[in-house]
Amino acid sequence: KEDPRLQAIFEAIRVIPNFPKPGIMFQDITTLLLNHKVFKDTVDMFVDRYRDMDISVVAGVEARGFMFGPSIALAIGAKFVPLRKPKKLPGEVISEAYELEYGTDCLEMHVGAVQPGERAVVIDDLVATGGTLSAAIKLLERVGAEVAECACVIGLPQFKVKLDSVYMLVFHLPFNQ
Ligand code: AMP
Repeated sequence: KEDPRLQAIFEAIRVIPNFPKPGIMFQDITTLLLNHKVFKDTVDMFVDRYRDMDISVVAGVEARGFMFGPSIALAIGAKFVPLRKPKKLPGEVISEAYELEYGTDCLEMHVGAVQPGERAVVIDDLVATGGTLSAAIKLLERVGAEVAECACVIGLPQFKVKLDSVYMLVFHLPFNQ
């Protein structure tokens, strides 16, 4: 049976057509963050799922994974690791490039942030093709961590990349074109 919190989470996400370019239905989670109950319910749903899964790392994808990840990490007793766009992290990094619709992008992680054998969850606001999450998984696996699961608030399931496990709270239509 569907969790009663999901309907309010779904309704709190604002959809803005043609942003940042024509044809994209932008899923705006900033309106969800404005509603304390819905924001807390969203974080709690992830916390309920991951609290007993022996997770020591919550890795958040820049920028909107940073809006949910730290709260989840604190609640489940894990560290928070930011996965950032190129040239933002000041220390030594490892990088993973990934395909976008037009061109490529890249995520970076600080060397030494995650130890071999740690169990991680990757958090972002939204999964579409899965390219971003798959780059995040590669970064963590390259340092010997195990990614137990990826988690997103919103799924626009148009996976082009095979992902073993993505937990999505809500699905939004219509999809990107
Ligand atoms: P993908 O790598 O194709 O799975 O795209 C997911 C990433 O792009 C996430 O970091 C999202 O924040 C962002 N993104 C893609 N499509 C949308 C959309 N329609 N609305 C908001 N963010 C999006």
